[in-house]
Amino acid sequence: MERINRSYIRKIRYAVQWSVFFMVIYAGVSFYFFVREIEHGAIPSVSRAPSVEGFMPIGALMALKLWVTEGIFDPLHPAALVIFLAAIVLAALLKKSFCGWICPVGTLSDAVWKAGGKVFGKNFTIPKYFDYPLRSIKYILTAFFLYIILIKMPAAQITGFLSKPYWKVADIKLLKFFTEMSTTTRIALVGLSGLSLFYKNFWCRYLCPYGGLLGLLSFISPVKIRRTSHCTQCGLCTKNCPSLLPVDKKESIRSPECTGCLTCVSYCPAKDALDISLAGGKAVKPEIFIAAVAAVFSGFILLARITGKWHSSITYGELYNLVPFIRSFSHP
Ligand code: SF4
Ligand code: SF4
Repeated sequence: MERINRSYIRKIRYAVQWSVFFMVIYAGVSFYFFVREIEHGAIPSVSRAPSVEGFMPIGALMALKLWVTEGIFDPLHPAALVIFLAAIVLAALLKKSFCGWICPVGTLSDAVWKAGGKVFGKNFTIPKYFDYPLRSIKYILTAFFLYIILIKMPAAQITGFLSKPYWKVADIKLLKFFTEMSTTTRIALVGLSGLSLFYKNFWCRYLCPYGGLLGLLSFISPVKIRRTSHCTQCGLCTKNCPSLLPVDKKESIRSPECTGCLTCVSYCPAKDALDISLAGGKAVKPEIFIAAVAAVFSGFILLARITGKWHSSITYGELYNLVPFIRSFSHP
């Protein structure tokens, strides 16, 4: 067997993940100061960070329906829809790579289970008979949101919702969710973090409906992890797969749990044994795959900026008027 070392893939992945993570943290912190200045009636010294809208996927799903059915691109939180579109297009083309390379929650989740592995000497696995039903939770949540928003909710109702004060300040409400955490939220976050220490990607694997949707879309992705006859059955791919997939037992990984993280490929020591490949079996160089993920995601943001669909149309004047009453706006 000709041996290869592709550990550089992991290094690139960590660099991409943590760069995005710190950009999101920076956006969150500047958004915090922006809101604080609005609350004090001052002219903000920092601009509003549109990327925080990436944490509003349910609103983005409604905005998507409105755009498709009525041709209206939500002007209040356009970045929410842009990031959502980028994630679903990525899933359809390049597996669940949004989860594996970009999502800051995935990055944090990765860090927590790795820390847990160091502290306890290993990560634990949930027995199969619990794992399957638990994994279905995120798909049930996905189905619920798709049914309510895409089927049950008429476009007129979505228009009504998206024009309400609640939606205008939904990003600020989201910020308050973290900065003014209720006891229930604290307990839930501590519980989830604790579980993530023991179990790899607990939130992503069992609960995240966004990941559930991207996983279902990833079925149509033309690229898959494929194993060839050069495989020596060393088992390193399976051992290191963050999604606990039996890579060394399958010829190709079709699972909606595969995030296209390329960790398996990075650990495989046998040349040409494991790659991310096109439908016909042609291997795609990891660098090309990674560049494609970055190009698609940043391409959406660039296009949105160029076409004026990145920044919210909400004026400071509207925010000064709405923010004092923010606690009275509840989800309709
Ligand atoms: S199969 Fe490979 S690419 Fe897919 S999640 Fe597992 S390690 Fe990542
Ligand atoms: S495909 Fe998996 S089992 Fe086969 S050689 Fe590569 S790492 Fe080892």
